[in-house]
Amino acid sequence: MTTTGSCMCGNIRYQFTGEPAVTALCHCVDCQKWTGSAFTSNAVVPRTAFEVTQGTPSSYDVVGASGKINKHFFCSNCGSSLYTELEVMPDMTCVKAGGLDGGAANLSNKIGIEFYVKDRSQYLKPCDGAKQEPQFG
Ligand SMILES: [Zn+2]
Ligand SMILES: [Zn+2]
Repeated sequence: MTTTGSCMCGNIRYQFTGEPAVTALCHCVDCQKWTGSAFTSNAVVPRTAFEVTQGTPSSYDVVGASGKINKHFFCSNCGSSLYTELEVMPDMTCVKAGGLDGGAANLSNKIGIEFYVKDRSQYLKPCDGAKQEPQFG
């Protein structure tokens, strides 16, 4: 199974194969700032299963709460948030699910875990069945 995605303007396209290892929401302030939204939704996939198939994303490094680098990849033309590579998770890519094609953005309506629920907006409720982490793991 191959899942494809793109930025809003279509300059950057990417794909991953197989099912995500985990589906995760992150409510941290960096995710809010980066996306202009209340949280990020993520398909966390092995880096070996992920590839950019068109264009070259720009990236921006932020030092996370761990003290390690969180690398944020985005489209320099339209500004869409695409995916992150966390130094603390060197084998995984966190694909921002909003960019996924064909309805896959909803992550099959199954969220495995929520991070930084301490920063979750009060108008949101915990997802059914999702592990709740106050911060990151
Ligand atoms: Zn774009
Ligand atoms: Zn976050």
